[in-house]
Amino acid sequence: MAFASPMPSREFLWNVFQSVDKDRSGYISADELQVALSNGTWTPFNPETVRLMIGMFDKQNRGTVSFEDFGALWKYVTDWQNCFRSFDRDNSGNIDREELKTALTTFGYRLSEPIIDMLMRKYDRSGRGVIYFDDFIQCCIVLYTLTSAFRQHDTDQDGVITIHYEQFLGMVFSLKI
Ligand code: MG
Ligand code: MG
Ligand code: MG
Repeated sequence: MAFASPMPSREFLWNVFQSVDKDRSGYISADELQVALSNGTWTPFNPETVRLMIGMFDKQNRGTVSFEDFGALWKYVTDWQNCFRSFDRDNSGNIDREELKTALTTFGYRLSEPIIDMLMRKYDRSGRGVIYFDDFIQCCIVLYTLTSAFRQHDTDQDGVITIHYEQFLGMVFSLKI
């Protein structure tokens, strides 16, 4: 990944982990992670994005992240921050329509203007015509997950799939989004 950051020391991570683990349970819950993360506004970090991230790094399937998995989560968030900043060309703290289009094109998506418009409408939670950090992550994860699922069926890679109703349901319901 082009936005990869170096992994910090174990001591650094332990200090961050302890400050995020407010109840000192030894695990980071979705609520604890949500409080620790900032989207650049005074509004709470998108709980859906928090849920997606916990799901990715929760190796034991308990809805929490242990210190062992925290390093990977920390790196993931940091890489997303670098990614977000690099596409926020005007340093506005959010991603406008053009910036989103550039980001998705750079990631390799070829999307039509109406689809970009649709993504803007869907992930613009503030209603200001821009996308903030937390919603940008959600948008990218969901788009990636849907594209991967589609690609698994599109074996000839022509952008067209034919699937039965039950296959469709199986595909949609097995997605972790
Ligand atoms: Mg805790
Ligand atoms: Mg911007
Ligand atoms: Mg095909």
